Amino acid sequence: MGRYDGRVAVITGAARGIGFGTAQRFAAEGASVAILDLDEGAAQEAAGRIELQGDAKAIGVGCDVADSAAAEAAVQRVVDELGGIHVLVNNAGITRDNLLFKMTEDDWDMVMNVHLKGAFNMTKAAQKRFVEQKYGKILNLSSVSALGNRGQANYSAAKMGIQGFTRTLGIELGPFGINANAIAPGFIATEMTDATAARLKMDVEEFRKLNADHNPVRRVGFPEDIAAAAAFLCSDEASYITGQTLYVDGGAKLG
Ligand code: NAP
Repeated sequence: MGRYDGRVAVITGAARGIGFGTAQRFAAEGASVAILDLDEGAAQEAAGRIELQGDAKAIGVGCDVADSAAAEAAVQRVVDELGGIHVLVNNAGITRDNLLFKMTEDDWDMVMNVHLKGAFNMTKAAQKRFVEQKYGKILNLSSVSALGNRGQANYSAAKMGIQGFTRTLGIELGPFGINANAIAPGFIATEMTDATAARLKMDVEEFRKLNADHNPVRRVGFPEDIAAAAAFLCSDEASYITGQTLYVDGGAKLG
């Protein structure tokens, strides 16, 4: 018996990276999963890979989380196709890094719209169903960059905003049987960090090694590291934990 038998988990931005790893983990523990991503074809392809790995049902849904109507329609489609919704993971994310003096208004708005407005849109759509059924788990992706990071004024602000959003959800939704927590990952090897290596004109492996060498546990993180923490925080074993941000970073923020 899996911890997520009979549950439906929605993970945004899950066609690859941390979101895909998290969807794989929920599916392995018995959940039906909905992979939401900008590109419906990529989301469906990822869902197909999950179905090949086991008995879980998986669907792929195209959705721009920054669009409130699209978020509502995606949640309705998940409920129609998978029979409900119990877990929401707000994972979709982008970076538009630059030093403040070069950062454009567009760079700022895009990052705010995907991370903060996206989490708001998806949570609004899910919480209606969660409150009705007096059950729901919300997990938001923050980052160690919430504590400040050169070249990421937009992203740092959004990721710290996610922590305040999470605490407020914990307060408002706790009485309705809903838990809301956040994970703040450190360096995780995905296309997002590979793109940072490219921007810094570094080889991907060299960039990962540099980050591993500066990490207390001397390695970079992988999507599986975040998925393991997500599977705990969204489970019933964690029902007395809400409003928290768990740093999953190999101790990076201690430095
Ligand atoms: P990733 O590999 O770049 O994957 C992000 C996914 O989100 C992509 O499939 C992307 O689709 C999708 N996406 C972007 N904008 C979207 C939108 N408006 N609506 C729906 N989907 C959208 O990133 P990742 O490294 O897995 O990161 C996942 C989350 O963890 C993000 O919130 C990120 O900020 C956070 N995080 C990552 C790290 C890290 O080191 N990797 C560290 C801390 C926090 P497209 O490819 O079509 O753009």
